[in-house]
Amino acid sequence: MAEQRWIAETLFESDGFRMSYAADRVLYETQTAHQHLVLFENRQFGKVLMLDGATQVTTKDEFIYHEMMTHVPILAHGKVREVLIIGGGDCGIAEEALKHRAIKRVTQVEIDPAVIEFAKRHFPEFTKPVFADKRFECVIDDGMRYVAETKRRFDVIIVDSTDPQGPGAVLFTKAFYQGCKRCLAPGGILVTQNGVPMLQPGELASSLGHFRELFRDATCYVAAIPTYVGGHMAMGYASDDRRLRAASEATIAARYRRAGRFATRYWTPAVHRAAFALPRFIAMQTQARAAKTQALFGAMRSAMVLAHAGCLANVGGTCTPTGGSVNMEGAIINMVNGYPAANISTITPGGIVLATQINPSADGVTVGVVGNSVTIDINGGTVPNCRITYTEATSPNLSPLILPPDVSGC
Ligand code: SAM
Repeated sequence: MAEQRWIAETLFESDGFRMSYAADRVLYETQTAHQHLVLFENRQFGKVLMLDGATQVTTKDEFIYHEMMTHVPILAHGKVREVLIIGGGDCGIAEEALKHRAIKRVTQVEIDPAVIEFAKRHFPEFTKPVFADKRFECVIDDGMRYVAETKRRFDVIIVDSTDPQGPGAVLFTKAFYQGCKRCLAPGGILVTQNGVPMLQPGELASSLGHFRELFRDATCYVAAIPTYVGGHMAMGYASDDRRLRAASEATIAARYRRAGRFATRYWTPAVHRAAFALPRFIAMQTQARAAKTQALFGAMRSAMVLAHAGCLANVGGTCTPTGGSVNMEGAIINMVNGYPAANISTITPGGIVLATQINPSADGVTVGVVGNSVTIDINGGTVPNCRITYTEATSPNLSPLILPPDVSGC
């Protein structure tokens, strides 16, 4: 009896986390010009497509992601005629978009033709209706180049990309978002696949930071997708028309009826509205921003040390990080019972505290972030003269930043 093959999701391996599927039957596996592609059957989730070790789509839970990435922006907008999909290889998003009868054209820009050919063979439930629809066009190109060069304008842009690795990395840059802004029609909406905030905090903070500089309304909405492991999945949202996101449930419901009241299994007008109500830890990730981080870091460090050392002078002290610009987005300090939780064993006077997470709901800690100032109230023991090192979550390979050892001099 052949040994059971298990296929792992390796996206978080460097962070010490791995999820595996039993591959009951491997249907297709290849290395394309851009990425490693494997499709297999799993008794729990049905067909599972993985690119470069990251789950892209499964038969069982695809409807959650595809419906929320598509119907939320289209019905928030209310008058969509032109949709641009960046990535979207399996065509699940295009299939949902084409359910809106008033839409005139759906353009999908996919970098890897092998994914499209593969999807035609293995995901006919998506590709058959899509390629049979005259309103659909597929362009093989790098999404970055397309948004920088196209003369066309779109009411909604949906970035259904892989994660910020390999060919997908460029789709999380400011330059790409600037390109999207350039080809959005006035009052248009941009939505982006933005990872799992609990495991990829820096990714969301970074994108939202760029959105804030480019758009009047920048936030995200969430849904739980079982095989995008790690809890909530964040979908970045940006537009220059703040009224669109404020549309009432009744307005959304009326637009849905006009759109053809097609069947959905996750999206409803109520779910649409509720998805923008963010848990605090995610809301905080959407508020942090690199440029403000320096001051944020200075204020945070001073407040922490002052609280530990029990004095209130010198609030807002600055620090001179050793090397390069500091990006505090995603820098994380986990506090338990008033003490930094990570590596509690190393918390000795003068010792090093490895900062891993800001967690406002942890015991005895109240962290408030308003603009670029931070307040930290810590109750519990005091640890004078401690130094803080932290790594930037968005690029785990960055070396720890060592602070000058004068924290106790307040
Ligand atoms: N829903 C999935 C997720 O959240 O991970 C993504 C699905 S879809 C298969 C992702 C597609 O993005 C892939 O087909 C990949 O080839 C495409 N892609 C990656 N980088 C791209 C780029 N720079 N331009 C256009 N398409 C890209």
